Amino acid sequence: MELNEIIKDAPNDVTIVESIVITHSKLKKYEKILCSISGGSDSDVLIDLCQKYEEAKKITYAFFDTGLEFKATKEHLIFLEKKYGIHIERIRAIKPIPLCCKEYGQPFLSKQVSEWISRLQAHNFQWEDEGLEILLEKYPNCRAALRWWCNDFEKSDSGRESSFNIAYNQYLKEFMIQNPPKFKISNKCCYFAKKKVANKFKKDGKFDLNIYGVRKSEGGARRSAYKTCFTSNGEEGDEYRPIFWYLSETKKVYEEHYNIVNSKCYSEYGLKRTGCAGCPYGKNFEEELQSMKKNEPQLFAAVNNIFADSYEYTREYRNFVKQKRDNNR
Ligand code: SF4
Repeated sequence: MELNEIIKDAPNDVTIVESIVITHSKLKKYEKILCSISGGSDSDVLIDLCQKYEEAKKITYAFFDTGLEFKATKEHLIFLEKKYGIHIERIRAIKPIPLCCKEYGQPFLSKQVSEWISRLQAHNFQWEDEGLEILLEKYPNCRAALRWWCNDFEKSDSGRESSFNIAYNQYLKEFMIQNPPKFKISNKCCYFAKKKVANKFKKDGKFDLNIYGVRKSEGGARRSAYKTCFTSNGEEGDEYRPIFWYLSETKKVYEEHYNIVNSKCYSEYGLKRTGCAGCPYGKNFEEELQSMKKNEPQLFAAVNNIFADSYEYTREYRNFVKQKRDNNR
């Protein structure tokens, strides 16, 4: 279909029309394009947007399999392949998540928090409530993590706590002093199961454009690092985020207009996100576990085994916060 016909057929929404026009020009301009697919609802819109054009044949679609994927996601990939007549490469993790967790430790709370805790654990930190200078003497070469522990970063002008301070997570320091972690914590599984494998695939493929289904309104560190839908990276290959400016409402308009079908994770399991099943970073991991128990019991058993300590520690922390808040009322 020609661009003007696609626009004529598009919903009456400026953001969507702009994304159609820009995607068209990017697909025309670049020759070797990688599009990362997660099987989630954002990537459903992404594929549909790209597949409107003849030039979509320049795209290699890739799904990075972390080893903890819902069966429903894998089935959905097959559905997408049939629907659009495409092939999606399945790329396996360099080290699957279960192995990473065993070797380096389990993820806890967030990527950043896990990083600081793992550094402190590597220095055999004893979770003591001392000032920065004293701790720096006792644990040299661990400055950044100790600054986090000691809340050494300034608050913002509006009085907001810095995300580089432990106080960014309310009562976490008090909790950890009273309940030091008895298991290894690490954010390495993201690195080995996702980042490293994706970087290697990109490098080996020498793609000149990398397309991601990232939306600014979703928040998160990765998204706030981007200012626009495009990043020029020179030889490493440019990056384009076609649905960067889509709000949830924009996405809904797109989905309804083009009859987008999401995976069963959304329509049957009632999940709000996909990705690594049961990741302890998820705010709603408890709800996710309940749904998994009912719909994918084998996966439920697996994640409870892999992330057992992290789930337990997170539950203890959440109870601790609740009690503190109740006492302060
Ligand atoms: S998203 Fe969670 S489970 Fe998946 S690799 Fe990262 S930390 Fe591990």
